[in-house]
Amino acid sequence: MASQRHVNVGGVQIGGGAPVAVQTMTKTETANLAATMEQIHKVAEAGADLVRVAVPRDKDIEALKTIVVESPIPVIADIHFNHTLALKAIDAGAHCIRLNPGNIGGPEKVAEVADRARAAGTPMRIGVNSGSLPKHLHALERENPVEALVSAGTEFVALMERLEFTDFKVSIKSTNVPNTIAANRLLSERIPYPLHLGITEAGTKWSGSLKSAVGLGTLLADDIGDTIRISLSTFHAEEEVKVAWEILKALKLRERGPVLIACPTCGRLQFDMDTVVADIERRLEAYADPVEVAVLGCAVNGIGEASHADFGITGAKNEGLIFSRGKALKKVPQEQLVDELFKEIDKYTATKKIEVDAHEQAAGAEWLQRIEEENAGELTPERLAKLEAERQRADDDAMEEALLRLDESASPTAGRRFTRA
Ligand code: SF4
Repeated sequence: MASQRHVNVGGVQIGGGAPVAVQTMTKTETANLAATMEQIHKVAEAGADLVRVAVPRDKDIEALKTIVVESPIPVIADIHFNHTLALKAIDAGAHCIRLNPGNIGGPEKVAEVADRARAAGTPMRIGVNSGSLPKHLHALERENPVEALVSAGTEFVALMERLEFTDFKVSIKSTNVPNTIAANRLLSERIPYPLHLGITEAGTKWSGSLKSAVGLGTLLADDIGDTIRISLSTFHAEEEVKVAWEILKALKLRERGPVLIACPTCGRLQFDMDTVVADIERRLEAYADPVEVAVLGCAVNGIGEASHADFGITGAKNEGLIFSRGKALKKVPQEQLVDELFKEIDKYTATKKIEVDAHEQAAGAEWLQRIEEENAGELTPERLAKLEAERQRADDDAMEEALLRLDESASPTAGRRFTRA
């Protein structure tokens, strides 16, 4: 369930049913103002709602004073070990402070930061990673790492509540995906505060994206989690943002920009799908409209399962078809397929109308029908799936009928009804 409480980070609501916020962290030295601002602009353009910057030195505080003013999105200061830096970051105008109450020098120092944050109206993210649990939880961690992580989280929450500071979100993260899932499930039942989700040190773009999609996706599908960060070993923080968006879009939690669907390809493939799909994906990045674009590797099945797409392409050896919402739009030479597709998308995004030329549409439909007829006997993956679905439906109907008959014969009135008939 969505968290009961929420925080407001520089105008972005986290929790309480607000859309799941996407955040990332800059990879630059924060004191390098030009490089940090360049990266912040890139992540904001990619769709980050919030950005976090590391603040390990006084010179980072100096840069932070400018960053919070110039950044197009709210800025979270990431502080470890040094509560003085947390105080200075609040004074510098950070929109949120991230700290681990366990490594900041004791409850008195946490209290000092909480007082300053309360006075400034600055929310906090408090939390802990599996690698930095407090000492007294180490034995429990060996026995039950999930309970240890949750205990650390709830102990920090209790500390903040004792300090009468409740303007915070919480994170408990691990490099272990099942532990992260189990721990956040438990924590969401025990506390009403918003949750920040992430998999610590998830890995490279490939493996880290998958781990994050599995871990965060599982929690988000259960309505657990209010803001997410994908941690990837890349200098390009915008890649983290793109992955976060793909997860949210896949779960239909948020909408942003186009959605690309593509067939998995098989031996019937009629063009260099790898290159074409990569090219389309790259070109679609420039569009803000949530237009759905399909790429089918051959026209053997017709438009089939891609018939709901706003636009799509499918091809044969020399020619291809552009289609829209289940209908042919026009037939074009294979090598012009992608450019012509984007001409149609451009017209649509400018006018919000799909322009149809009846003559071209008829020619395209005829071409498609011919390809389908020529390959009517082919058992394609799509046709096999359709056959399977039909067989399943028939089995389900037969089972339902058999159960109904059983019910009727077991009913005390069944005999009477039968006699009357
Ligand atoms: S049969 Fe299906 S999976 Fe194979 S290339 Fe054609 S559209 Fe793609």
